Amino acid sequence: MSALPPHWRPAQDELKNKTILITGATEGIGRAVALACARLGAEVLLTGRNEAALESVYDTILNEGGRTPGLIPFDLRVTQHEPYDELAETLLAEGLAIDGLVHNAGVLGERRALSQTSPESWQEVLQVNITATFLLTRALMPLLERASLASIVLTSSGVGRRGKAFWGAYAVSKFATEGYMQVLADELGGTSSIRVNSLNPGAVNTRMRRAAYPGEPPDSNPLPEALTDNWIYLLSDASALIHGKALSAQG
Ligand code: NAP
Repeated sequence: MSALPPHWRPAQDELKNKTILITGATEGIGRAVALACARLGAEVLLTGRNEAALESVYDTILNEGGRTPGLIPFDLRVTQHEPYDELAETLLAEGLAIDGLVHNAGVLGERRALSQTSPESWQEVLQVNITATFLLTRALMPLLERASLASIVLTSSGVGRRGKAFWGAYAVSKFATEGYMQVLADELGGTSSIRVNSLNPGAVNTRMRRAAYPGEPPDSNPLPEALTDNWIYLLSDASALIHGKALSAQG
C-alpha cells in the first residue's frame, strides 16, 4: 500500500512545533528525511554514529535557517538498555516531547546464505536493525506519550515482506520490524494516540543500495530526496488515522 495519498504535498510549515528524532541521520535516507523535516519547521534530534557527518547535517540545517537541531551521537550496536534509558531521561529532563520517531538506521550485513552467515554479522544486524528499535522505543515511550499525536515510523524493506535467498539476517531483521510494528500497533490501538507504521523505501540510491547491488548503475534508482514526502506525510497530523499499516514509498 502506498504511503502517500495521491497529490499530497506538505504545507510550508507542515511540521512546525514538532520534535522529531531520526536514527541514522548521518547519510542516505535518514539525512534526507532530517533535512526535509527541518525545512518544514520541525526541531530535529539527529542520531548517528559518525559525529563529523552528524555535525555536517547540523550545519546544513542552521545554514538553511532551520531550528537548532539536537545532536545525539549514539551507536546502536550497544546491547545494554541503560544508555537508551539515560538518553530518554536526559530528553525528559529537558522537558521535551517527541512527536515523531523515525527508526531509519540500518546495516546490510553479509549477503550470503544463512548457513554461511557468521554469528557476529547475524548479531550485529539483528541488534542494529531491530533490537535497538525495541530498546529505543521502549525508553522513549514517556516522551512520545507527552506529544498529542505522536507517530513512529519503522523502516522496512521488500525482503522483510517476502523472503529472498542470500538476504540473510537483514531480511530476517526486516520481518521482525514488521512483526514489531504489528504487535506495537495492536497494543497502542484504542489506548493511546501514538500511531506506528512501517515504510518500505523501495530501491533508493544510497550507500546501502550501492553495496547490495554493486553492478547496478546507481542512477537507476531515485535519490532519497525524491521520496521524503512519504516520511513527512507519516510524521504530519495529516496521517493521524493511519496506524498499523505496512506501507511503501514507491509503487
Ligand atoms: P545508508 O546510506 O547506509 O545509511 C544507514 C544509516 O544507518 C547511516 O546513517 C548510518 O550511520 C546508520 N547506522 C548504521 N549502523 C549504525 C549504528 N551501529 N549506530 C547508529 N547508526 C547506524 O542506508 P540507507 O539506504 O539510507 O538506509 C536507511 C534505511 O532504509 C535502512 O533501515 C535500510 O534497511 C532501509 N532501506 C533502504 C533501501 C535502499 O534501497 N537504500 C531499501 C529498503 C530499505 P553511520 O554512517 O554513522 O554509521
